[in-house]
Amino acid sequence: MTDPNTQQPSHASLTDNTPLAQALRSYGLFVIGCLTPDNAADLTLPSMRNGKTPEALILIANAGPIFWDRFQAEHRNETDPMDGWTRRILEPIAETFGMEALFPFDGPPFLPFHSWGYAARAFYPSPNIPAIHPVFGSWFGLRAAFLSPQPHPYPHEHSADENPCDSCSTHSCFDACLSNALSREGYDIKSCLAHVAGDDDGFCLANGCRARRACPVGQDYIYSPEQAEFHMRGFLTMLDRL
Ligand code: SF4
Ligand code: SF4
Repeated sequence: MTDPNTQQPSHASLTDNTPLAQALRSYGLFVIGCLTPDNAADLTLPSMRNGKTPEALILIANAGPIFWDRFQAEHRNETDPMDGWTRRILEPIAETFGMEALFPFDGPPFLPFHSWGYAARAFYPSPNIPAIHPVFGSWFGLRAAFLSPQPHPYPHEHSADENPCDSCSTHSCFDACLSNALSREGYDIKSCLAHVAGDDDGFCLANGCRARRACPVGQDYIYSPEQAEFHMRGFLTMLDRL
């Protein structure tokens, strides 16, 4: 599918015209998936503040350059500028629609955002940690989940039918990683962090993960070097927590 406006590969998430999608669009944000009491499988949806079970848990993500451009223009000089900016944008939007916003950066304990996305078939597990989407590849970010007391009108529209890794013939991600961090045996975060922090030639830090960049899926959505470095520097702060 191609977006008629940008001619880039598109997805139902980007052509969604619900009022919620329209409120998110100018920030480069969109609904990437929806979990309902029906498709939540063995996951328990978090309760709303009034103690009731939501009718939908709507996952909000970013992909494409608009999100980064807005963040650059609007963020404040604070400890976690992206978290702060995201909260300031999304809490009022959730409130407008009678929903409640949850964020992946609130914790510990942290909420299982990726498990929710896998259950909703919004994206899939991938060697390119932590997830892959058929259109965006691994070049998207989960920003929030909205708990809704009303059902989402198209809860399954955003679902992806297949994990692209299942039919991948190149597995170019494995070959691209120059450390032992990524292999068919799995992902070793300590090796990855050590490589990015010191042993690397600076490529992963300045441009984003080599393995992600080598993946053929989502090439139109690769982050700019500035955005990639911002996220990689955030990732490096995990060195202190391991
Ligand atoms: S290169 Fe292939 S196996 Fe690796 S993340 Fe991309 S689609 Fe999946
Ligand atoms: S960031 Fe660099 S070291 Fe870490 S998995 Fe990606 S390519 Fe490998």
